[in-house]
Amino acid sequence: MYKEVMAETGVDYVCRGEGEEVLPALLSSLEQGEENPSVPGIVFFRDGEYHNDHKIAIIDDIESLPKISRDLVDPAFSFSPKIVSSRGCPFRCSFCSISAFYNGKYRQRSVDSVISDIKDYLSWGYDTFWFHDDNLTVDTNWVYDFCDQLEQEELRIKYNCMSRVDTIVKHPELIKRMAETGCSLISIGIESGIPEVLERMHKKDPRQRYHEGHPRDEQPCSQPQLVYDPG
Ligand code: SF4
Repeated sequence: MYKEVMAETGVDYVCRGEGEEVLPALLSSLEQGEENPSVPGIVFFRDGEYHNDHKIAIIDDIESLPKISRDLVDPAFSFSPKIVSSRGCPFRCSFCSISAFYNGKYRQRSVDSVISDIKDYLSWGYDTFWFHDDNLTVDTNWVYDFCDQLEQEELRIKYNCMSRVDTIVKHPELIKRMAETGCSLISIGIESGIPEVLERMHKKDPRQRYHEGHPRDEQPCSQPQLVYDPG
């Protein structure tokens, strides 16, 4: 894809993967007058060849990334808090780019560090969050711990996230727990009602259905949101 981007747009450099560590390395190379930086993941085209494209830049420890600082955001800027507790997804749905983008890696932050972000946001007056995780419910124990900590620390928030049908089917108690601690919307991809199509997409447990996990009279989440991709 980076080849098409470079050919069609004429951009000088493309970062393959996560930019937080490699972008400063690129900038410092450019600052020193080095236009052919040796930074794996920062691709450039010279003398008929692509350079540094053997690697996708991936950060192993996402907990080491600096916290968001509200002080750096212009007060006039409309700020909508988003939280990222993990990057990547261990599933391999055939239509999804997440696995390729993160080179198949899934990384998580600790519950403590996410709770610390939430406390910061609450102190700035924000209490509603969108979890930007590709799939927040990959590690159900993590989510249980997160819900427990929200409750123990009496942090009253509202939050939304993305999950998978089979997780909801297998763990209805988890979804209930999330609803008790402020989760009001979960986006899930139904994708298809045809078992063979689901199987081809590598969606697991194709015979299970959304309503199996959510009897009509026992909807734990106030706004279940379905994403149907007819493709
Ligand atoms: S569960 Fe979601 S994020 Fe994970 S591979 Fe499938 S579509 Fe992508």
